This record gives sequence, C-alpha cells and structure tokens, in this order.
Amino acid sequence: MAKFIFVTGGVTSSLGKGLTSASIGLLLEAHGFKVAHQKLDPYINVDPGTMSPYQHGEVYVTDDGAETDLDLGHYERFTHASLTKHSNYTTGKIYSGVIAKERRGDYLGKTVQVIPHITDEIKAGIRRAADGADVLICEIGGTVGDIEGLPFLEAIRQFALEAGRENTAFVHLTLLPFLRASGELKTKPSQHSVQKLREIGVQPDVLVCRTEHPISEEIRQKLSLFCNVPLKAVIEECDVAFSIYEVPQMLTEQGLDRLLLDRLGLRSEGARLDDYHTLLDVIRNPRGQVEVALVGKYIALTDAYKSVYESITHGGFASQVKVRVRRVQAEDVRPENVGELLSGVHGIVVPGGFGSRGIEGKIEAIRWARETGTPFFGLCLGMQCATIEVARHLAGLDAAHSTEFDPDTPHPVIDLMADQKGLEKGGTMRLGAFRCALRAGTRSRAAYGDETIHERHRHRYEFNNAYRERLEAAGLVIGGTNPERDLVEIVELRDHPWFVGVQFHPEFKSRPTAPHPLFRDFIAAALRHQESGVGSSS
Ligand code: GLN
Repeated sequence: MAKFIFVTGGVTSSLGKGLTSASIGLLLEAHGFKVAHQKLDPYINVDPGTMSPYQHGEVYVTDDGAETDLDLGHYERFTHASLTKHSNYTTGKIYSGVIAKERRGDYLGKTVQVIPHITDEIKAGIRRAADGADVLICEIGGTVGDIEGLPFLEAIRQFALEAGRENTAFVHLTLLPFLRASGELKTKPSQHSVQKLREIGVQPDVLVCRTEHPISEEIRQKLSLFCNVPLKAVIEECDVAFSIYEVPQMLTEQGLDRLLLDRLGLRSEGARLDDYHTLLDVIRNPRGQVEVALVGKYIALTDAYKSVYESITHGGFASQVKVRVRRVQAEDVRPENVGELLSGVHGIVVPGGFGSRGIEGKIEAIRWARETGTPFFGLCLGMQCATIEVARHLAGLDAAHSTEFDPDTPHPVIDLMADQKGLEKGGTMRLGAFRCALRAGTRSRAAYGDETIHERHRHRYEFNNAYRERLEAAGLVIGGTNPERDLVEIVELRDHPWFVGVQFHPEFKSRPTAPHPLFRDFIAAALRHQESGVGSSS
C-alpha cells in the first residue's frame, strides 16, 4: 500500500507549498521510491481552464489533457511522477461529482452531506492518485483557517484514521514574519495556524518555516513546544538566494527526507543525488549570460508564463549560461519603437495566449526577429503570429490574420477546422498530448533527434492548410505535422539562423535536468547570436 504525505499551509498563501511538495518528491525519488503528486484546490471553479492568468497564473496541461493548477508544473519539473486528470481536484470538481451521483440516485434517497459524502469523494480521489506509487505527496491549496478549505482538511484527518497514522505524514508550511522594529522573527502566527489545524484533528509531524533569516535555537524550541512537533522536525526554509532548484538541497541538509522516511516506516540506503548535484553546480557556476525578450500579454505577473520562464532557464542550463529575460508588453510594441524595445536581446520568445490584445505588437516583434536574424521561438499563439507575419510580409497576403481576431479576413491563414465550426466554445479545444511527425532536414528534427514526438496542446485554432503551398513558396518550412489529421504543428524559416514556431506547448515538458530540446537549441542559437555580435547594443 502507498504511503501518504499531506502538505498544508498556514499564515499566508503563496508560501511555496508547491515547491516544497515537489522538493520532497525529488528527495524521495532519490531514495528510490516511486512518487505520485496531487493538488487539492479549495476554489469552486471545476478546473482552472477558464480562470484568468492574472488571477491564477498559468494553466498547466497534462498529457491526458487536464487543465490544472500551475503547481503541477513544479511536480513534473522536479520528479518523474506522471500526472493525470486525477492529480488536481478542486471543490467544484468534487461537488460536481457528488451532485451527478445524487441526480443518478446513487445515494438511494439519503440526505447528501459534506460529511461523509463530500469527504468520501475527496478520499476516493486521493486513493486514485496514489495508484501504483510508493508515496503520494498531496498538497492542499489555500491557507489553514479558510472556510472553503475545511472539507479537504477534514478529509485528510479521516484519511489518516483509515490508512493508519504510520502510513501518513502531515507537513505544515508556515511563515515566520520578521519584525524590523524589534529585529526578531515572530512565531505567534505559526502557533495559531497549528492550533487551527489541531482543532480539526490534524497534528503536523513536520513544520517547514519560510523565513528571511536563519532560525535561532531559541525560536526552534519555542516552535517545537507550542506547535507540538519534535525539535528536529522544525525545518528552516530560508528565502533562496540563487534558484528555486536549491530548495531540495536545503531540506535534505536538515534531514527532512530522513524524518519523513522514518515517520512512514520506509527503508532507504541513502539518496542518489548525482544528477541533482551536477545541476546545482551548473546553476551556481554559469560561464556567461544571454538576454532574451519575452513579448507577451501577461507580463506583469511572472506566474502567468511560469513554465515558459522555467523552460528558458533550463535552456540556459544546457549551455551553462544564465538567461536574463526582458519582459516586453506586447501592446507597447509598434513599428517605430520595436528596435528600441528589443535592442540588444539575443533571442525573442512569443508565448501562447487568447484574445486580440497585443497581437499586432507580437507580429511586429516577430517581423523584427526575422529581419534582424535574431533567434525566434513562438509557442502556440506565437506560432500563429509567426504564420500571419510571414503571410503578410513574405507571401504578399496583406490582410492575412487568424479568424480568432478578424473573422472577416480575406486570408484566414489561421482558422477553425471545419468540424469545429458551429460547436460551443467549451468543446472545441485541442487539449493534451498529440503525435507530431518531424520533417527531415529541419531545425526541429535536429533538435529532437527523433522522427516522431508527442507534445501537449491547448488551443482552438489551426494553421489553414489551404495556404500551405503559398506560404511554403514564400520561405516557410513545415517542420512537423500531426499525421492523424494532417495538422501543421511546426513552422520554421529557411533563411534564418533559428526561427521556429510550434502549435503545441513545449514548456510543459522541460525539466532542469533534461532541458527541452527546442528551448535548449533556442538558447544555444541566442548564444551564437551574441557571440557573432550582430545586433549587439553594447
Ligand atoms: N488563441 C489561440 C488558439 O486558440 C492560441 C492558444 C494558445 O496560445 N494556447 O488557437
């Protein structure tokens, strides 16, 4: 039977529970265990698919096409856990499951209640996610004390009772605020948060403390006493100076992995962390730096393009360089200022997105990348914009556009497929992993070193095959297609150092220890561009 680790958070939101959960996963894998990850989100939306990136950050997509919380990205980047639609449950999803059963008559006329029906549904979801794994690490979203989180906390309390306390560990992440006036770290909010948890019947085994300053022995003792956790189970998680990838190191140095293994009765000869240590070495000793621009719509909030930023960083790891990202608001980009806004960058990324805001700016940035020979990488909408750019400026189709933004365009180079037209919006999205056959002699084929690949999708519009010949004649190279439906998946430019647009989202499959081939090659091209001195402002 699997073992279960539940991660809760107290005092404030955004403490980095996802990162801590993922770090625990990385360490347990290093001890040889098969881990699974899950996130339980207390909000009522059935999934984050329809939420604004401003509210919720990026929507992370799994192979099986689930639209999930971005914390799942951390899990996949840090571990080999395979995530599915069972890896993320929201209150909305749990309730809609229960309500559907009630309507079908499954409850045989009983009164349907939070306890036991909602909590049973949650527990069933937890068990399902642990299927085939040695350890499930289950993160509860939100903060202890929130009204909407209660059913989840109640469910994990019951879960420990059923699965056995020896098979369950509770990790509570908390914040120690630093009071400048008195120059001390305060433990009271953590005490209160643990009190709240204990009221529900959950006693944490481990307290992970987010802090700006190292915790003194005295503070440790205080936390141990008031929160009822052993002294050695008070773990410090100091603000990481360098990189999020240092968190596992910090936790294992304090023995968190050993503590959890002992708690769960798991035996290990020790952790194999060679790959991880090599990674830390690369991160700590970059041999150079490049700068790339990200021209997007949700620039103000880093979470909105979380996986894209991470993948760019990973691309840098492959060349052992640090990558600075210049965030450029697409709406601000115009023909008269594009050179100024992008001057000195060694590469340009246009990420995915929906809605027309900033589209012309993205197209302008792509034109600049093409004309100046600056490496360009377009992701989903970025690929569609590249297609429009080439159509307008190389193929002479002046008013070419996507019907998403101009339904009456005379040249719909990006369009809905015939079978999607007339359907409701919700049902038409192409979601999850699809096959793509790569064309010999292309940059994509060189990057992957493979003929067939699988990549994740989340979009509605497609490259319009009616324009294929015309655009190819203008210099566009079709780098890859989906063989089942003959859909264009990759476009490239023939006469350009590195210009690749992909209809899918490669950023969901990049890992620090295995950078995605396209991000790897894009950063390598950026490095070459820098070394050639072309377009350099300095
Ligand atoms: N809006 C575009 C579409 O629906 C692109 C989506 C995306 O970039 N994820 O096809």
